[in-house]
Amino acid sequence: MLDNSFLSVTLQIGKKRVDVNLKSLIKGGISFFLPADCLICGKSLEPLNRSFICEYCWGKVKWLTPPYCSICGRPLPSEYNCSDNSSFLCGECQVRPPYFKKAFIPTLYQGVMKEAIKLFKYKGKMGISRGLTKITRIYLDHSRFSLPELNLVIPIPLHRRKLKERGFNQAEIIAKFIAEYLNLNLVRDGLIRVRFTNSQTQLKREERLTNIKGAFKVKKGERFKRKRVLLVDDVYTTGVTLNEAAKEIKKTKAEVYVFALARTP
Ligand SMILES: [Zn+2]
Ligand SMILES: [Zn+2]
Repeated sequence: MLDNSFLSVTLQIGKKRVDVNLKSLIKGGISFFLPADCLICGKSLEPLNRSFICEYCWGKVKWLTPPYCSICGRPLPSEYNCSDNSSFLCGECQVRPPYFKKAFIPTLYQGVMKEAIKLFKYKGKMGISRGLTKITRIYLDHSRFSLPELNLVIPIPLHRRKLKERGFNQAEIIAKFIAEYLNLNLVRDGLIRVRFTNSQTQLKREERLTNIKGAFKVKKGERFKRKRVLLVDDVYTTGVTLNEAAKEIKKTKAEVYVFALARTP
């Protein structure tokens, strides 16, 4: 049996000397080249596909297409579909318009997209973020002319207890991509989750409202004064989380826009 010291080599990289363990390098290399299966349909993935999902399945993602509410993106019945979609508002936004000006949402939270986000968020399949950021990029390219001139990107934060559990904030990964792609400032600590809230997924709208109230605080709000802020989350369900966060940011006299990867139909 060879011991580990025998398998270690020292490489000279520039002025730096790095010890490399050949055993772990070979192991890592092999798993890198082994084809894996699509986590949705089970077919083997192309060797260079590191997103855990095959191109065919990614192709089945349902994009959010008109007619939808011009503020919150809620899909509207097809009779609203005429040449100008820009002025339609859903009943909810007519009665109680949200604190944000407009939500930008590429897809519907169903089928492949729902599975992909769940695998990314709850199973820690980080490679899926490659597919999710690709969808974001396609959407941003497509809607570049309808986007307002933004200044800052702020992710919806997780409570530190949840962040510790999960190890990453999915909203921050998306927000970071958008900030880089649109050349905007990412403000990671713009919002703080001051209250631990139980998962919203099983709650009704009214319960969600009570559950989320007072959950966020703005940090150094003077940074946002008269700025256009893009608030980013992974999923738009009832919008109460994004709206509560938008309410806090708006207090700093900022104008708030919202981005979510997917919206419940
Ligand atoms: Zn597949
Ligand atoms: Zn609406």
